[in-house]
Amino acid sequence: MITTEELQELAVTHGTPLFVIDHDELRTNYATFKKHLPRVQAYYAVKANPDPAIVKTLFDAGASFDVASMPEFMVVHEIIKDMPDKERQDWIWDKIIYANPIKANETLIELDKYKPLVTFDNREEITKIKQYAPHSGLVLRLRVTNTGAMVELSSKFGAGPGEAVDLILEAVQAGLAVEGLSFHVGSQTTNFENFVQAINLSAHIFREARERGYDKMNLLDIGGGFPAPYDDSVKPLSELARKINAELDRLFAPEIEILAEPGRFMVATAGTAVSKIIGKAVRDGKLCYYIDDGVYHTFSGIIFDHCQYQMESFKKGPTQICTVFGPTCDALDVISMAEDLPFNLQRGDLLYSRNIGAYSGASSTYFNGFSPATVIHVNR
Ligand SMILES: *Cc1c(COP(=O)(O)O)cnc(C)c1O
Repeated sequence: MITTEELQELAVTHGTPLFVIDHDELRTNYATFKKHLPRVQAYYAVKANPDPAIVKTLFDAGASFDVASMPEFMVVHEIIKDMPDKERQDWIWDKIIYANPIKANETLIELDKYKPLVTFDNREEITKIKQYAPHSGLVLRLRVTNTGAMVELSSKFGAGPGEAVDLILEAVQAGLAVEGLSFHVGSQTTNFENFVQAINLSAHIFREARERGYDKMNLLDIGGGFPAPYDDSVKPLSELARKINAELDRLFAPEIEILAEPGRFMVATAGTAVSKIIGKAVRDGKLCYYIDDGVYHTFSGIIFDHCQYQMESFKKGPTQICTVFGPTCDALDVISMAEDLPFNLQRGDLLYSRNIGAYSGASSTYFNGFSPATVIHVNR
């Protein structure tokens, strides 16, 4: 972990706001995932943090990638295009899944030359893929229970269990190759039963497809949702992995390839924001700190990711509950209405926030003329 001394030194050297990425932590998270889920190949979900340096570190550690747009695809492609010794069709599927079930015609046309692995969840998409990307391998995205996830995804994507095999057979009749199934149990899932249920549903769909004459599915993609340890209430990955491994071994023959698409788990703990107090006021009797980073920037996850981050002070001292505001003129730019911080902090003092590596800087804007935080990679 990057120490508070190192964070302060970086702020002195580079100024603030900073978004510090710890590449040791990325490697540790990848290794933890691999250790507890040995049968599962991790396809890092690039949307959690698309920084090419992060993609490179995870690639070197052995990761594959889940992309959902053409620019994300190209970030990964830049890094893997010189991979030696393999047929393109092999390595592209080994290293990338295009996991956005809805793709524009133009995207499919561009993707087709790479013979990609892509997800789908509806009839319209079969027609599009047949017309514009017939060389794809298809993965049917299932709709599964997202109960208890911090960010729910099931209302936007996924074929219902009743239509799943119909869609698989329609794609096959259209001359397309259906390779397997995928699902997403919702981001930051602390209800581990979601995974158990989704794996059981997938096994059921595999069986129904076989019974109806299609036995060529050879992969199961168990998606993302692996929780980051934001606080002590989050149970460790080892506990979730035990449940997942038991279900996979019980329900899926060893030759079925198992993929996952962890985003948050890989990067959340690798990111730290360092910001500076630029103003201080008392409003309605409450102490307010104004800092140089906010919800339009590194703290965007407060809005888009429904995530709250803890602010910490490098200086110690008696604390009180205060409000922390971002730098823009929008009243939406509130980082917290209830942070417990020393009340004697001064203009120029620094604050930091750990575990902010996922769904944060990735959605930074230039709103109100304020630039995103400077990204610093610590790669020892
Ligand atoms: C966002 C997303 C992920 C990553 O989810 P996490 O909860 O960050 O692990 C994986 N797969 C798909 C299809 C996604 O949309």
